[in-house]
Amino acid sequence: MTTVTPLNPPRRTLLGPGPSDVPASVSRAMSAPTLGHLDPAFLAIMDEIRAMLRAVLLTDNEWTMPMSGTGSAGMETCMVNLIEPGDDVLIGSHGVFGGRMAEVARRCGANVVVAEGPWGRALDPELLRAAAGGKSFKLVAIVHAETSTGVLQDLAPFRAIADECDALLLADMVTSVAGHRVALDEWGVDAMYSGTQKCLSCPPGLAPVSFSPRAVEVFTKRKTPVQSWYLDLNLLGGYWGEQRAYHHTAPINMLYGLHEALRLVLEEGLEARWARHARHAAMLVEGLAELDLEPIVPADERLTPLTAVRIPDGIDDAAVRRHLLQHFDVEIGGGLGPMKGQAWRIGLMGEGSSERNVALCLAGLKSALAEQRGA
Ligand SMILES: *Cc1c(COP(=O)(O)O)cnc(C)c1O
Repeated sequence: MTTVTPLNPPRRTLLGPGPSDVPASVSRAMSAPTLGHLDPAFLAIMDEIRAMLRAVLLTDNEWTMPMSGTGSAGMETCMVNLIEPGDDVLIGSHGVFGGRMAEVARRCGANVVVAEGPWGRALDPELLRAAAGGKSFKLVAIVHAETSTGVLQDLAPFRAIADECDALLLADMVTSVAGHRVALDEWGVDAMYSGTQKCLSCPPGLAPVSFSPRAVEVFTKRKTPVQSWYLDLNLLGGYWGEQRAYHHTAPINMLYGLHEALRLVLEEGLEARWARHARHAAMLVEGLAELDLEPIVPADERLTPLTAVRIPDGIDDAAVRRHLLQHFDVEIGGGLGPMKGQAWRIGLMGEGSSERNVALCLAGLKSALAEQRGA
């Protein structure tokens, strides 16, 4: 084999749907010496991570911890532990991630009822209520922040539906955690998952999850073993809980990164961080208007960490994104599914939500559009 030179990736500004830019102190934390996964010094770090996660999620849930794997591993963790074959599951879907939840639930052997709503709008709770048809369900699942379309979903009506169906409420909070207000206990969320790579501004690789006492009772009293050995919370509880028994080797240095990322969130303050995301999203939308670009989602249903922008007629989606990358080192996202070629997705997540990045993104778009429009 020929000599391979040490890797030297270009420095980009990540303004897509994730991953987001990582603060230097998080990268530094990840390069600290690797400890053994049962070293008392590491166990103390784990305890701090769990305490900080509870503080960020506004919950007292004992079962709050990061899973090894990205956001999708968090999704899979919730599904495989809460569902037994033959269970009835009701899922609201109005984007890619609602669809993915339905697929994962089906693979767990659930009878899945999906209430489909239009992409780019909040899901009408009445669609779910109608799909429920007065039956009971094991689980009602909904995406809190649909990153594929830029929609924020108020969870209160879905808690009410879950109560009517005698079900647990599961929420995908991958993009909302540390960007939007998230209050698990106040909202009555029984199970949730997130990811490190969005508003927590830590590299992809961990998925924080949290379970209410009711949800814990469901997976500790299962009749059948969890079909995934790796994601089985009953086994993992032995490592993250009192016993400290080996299950799989924790990704030590990733957890260092999460420790620092959570510390930064709490140092900034939750309210201040949510407000910062809101401020910069508003600034972005104002600037977009000056370029004759408009957001797809109505203002009161819009996410602040991610803005979906309608691509004007006659503009080449891929060429604009290439221009941003080549001339500005800026990454933004394209549309997914039915929004492919129709939307850009601009992420101002965590560390990336700054006035500088708004200005940079707008300058890049202005330049790219000028090139397209032959100016
Ligand atoms: C990113 C994302 C996921 C999946 O996370 P990965 O880290 O890509 O596995 C799931 N749900 C939502 C809403 C997301 O934004």
